Amino acid sequence: MDFSENEHHAMLRESLVRFGRRHIPPGAVAKWEKAGSIDREVYRALADLGVMGLCVPVQYGGAGRDIVGMILVIDELSRLAVPLCTLYTFAACYGGMTIADLGSEAQKAEILPKVASGDIMLSYGWTEPDVGSDLPSVQTTARREGDKLIVNGAKRFCSGADITDYILALVRTGPIDQKYKNLSLVLVPNRSAGITITPIETLGHHGVGTTDVTFQDVQVPFDNILGGPEKLNQGWQTIAQSMLDIEKIEAAAGGLGVARAALEEARNYAMQRVQFGSEIAKIQDIRHKIADMEVNAHTAHLVTYHAAWALENGLPCSKETSIAKLYATEAARTNALLCLQIMGAYGYTKDFDCERLVRDALLLPIAAGSSAIQRNNIAHLSGLPRVK
Ligand SMILES: Cc1cc2nc3c(=O)[nH]c(=O)nc-3n(C[C@H](O)[C@H](O)[C@H](O)COP(=O)(O)OP(=O)(O)OC[C@H]3O[C@@H](n4cnc5c(N)ncnc54)[C@H](O)[C@@H]3O)c2cc1C
Repeated sequence: MDFSENEHHAMLRESLVRFGRRHIPPGAVAKWEKAGSIDREVYRALADLGVMGLCVPVQYGGAGRDIVGMILVIDELSRLAVPLCTLYTFAACYGGMTIADLGSEAQKAEILPKVASGDIMLSYGWTEPDVGSDLPSVQTTARREGDKLIVNGAKRFCSGADITDYILALVRTGPIDQKYKNLSLVLVPNRSAGITITPIETLGHHGVGTTDVTFQDVQVPFDNILGGPEKLNQGWQTIAQSMLDIEKIEAAAGGLGVARAALEEARNYAMQRVQFGSEIAKIQDIRHKIADMEVNAHTAHLVTYHAAWALENGLPCSKETSIAKLYATEAARTNALLCLQIMGAYGYTKDFDCERLVRDALLLPIAAGSSAIQRNNIAHLSGLPRVK
């Protein structure tokens, strides 16, 4: 068993640390949050590192299929700047890995070279006003008319839809009474006629917003079904087979980065803040909190990279990705709240990153399948009978 990072991944991590020092100075993320968007030059500089195509096959201009590398980038970017990490996910993960694994040849040829060059991003449009965890109950419809699909309905919390190029929408392509059967995933170009995109105000994740999207008689080529026309009505199988694993592992890596960032912030503060004549880092209660944060971040690292390794090696890993998603995102929340306790009043101000980490961390155990949903999966995959 070898737990060491290989040379290629160690260099990748080092290059991201250097990228952070150069392009994300203190205060940069707060500025992006205020502006509601990320400095596009920084995104371009990230793309220039060659990390967008880590899961794009070589013939489309990428690096092959380096899931561990992609997870490492998400881990480092979410440590540096959650909104930048979110954009990276829209490109490398939703665009690159999803299309490389599940797209038709035409979709790969159209989308993957643009992913590798950093010129395209995808949003996931799964959640709806009345459908959260119970995804296969979506009500947005797509009916066939000749060589077109006509899409009608509404998606909620469709992150980045105002800036991405396609919404990968989960839609109903047959009667609703067959809950898991008549579903398809469709690549809907965001700028199609009949689409309205409205921002939703949220507690955190401000540099990249989430949106409401409505579809009114939106015409989409029939060929835009993910995987091509033969995948009509195969949407749930596609999601259940591999897309949930992709989403869970990406969310876990995001949690890991935030858990590490909170640990660094708390440690730095504890070593500088003096009360009763010495650094608060010498107080046992503070030390134990930081020790707990180390354990959380370390364990999150192990479960996340183990699940990424399993996914990369084609091993069945739905339980492992659920464990990683559950543990790492809860670790992010716990560490962010411990950081706030350690920093006291200053953690509550906008002068430090702590308050942003708290706001960003609170989402992580909710989105991409809540912690309760991951526990349901893990219990079922541990051999317990499935319950509704
Ligand atoms: C900022 C933000 C960005 C988002 N981005 C996207 C996006 O890009 N694309 C997208 O499609 N969605 C996105 N989402 C939606 C997110 O994935 C959903 O919030 C999530 O799937 C849960 O749905 P819900 O919040 O409606 O909760 P609900 O499903 O209504 O659940 C409410 C509560 O009940 C619990 N619960 C529900 N069912 C069960 C069960 N069977 N067993 C145990 N407990 C249960 C949940 O854990 C939760 O605590 C985003 C959400 C936010 C806030």
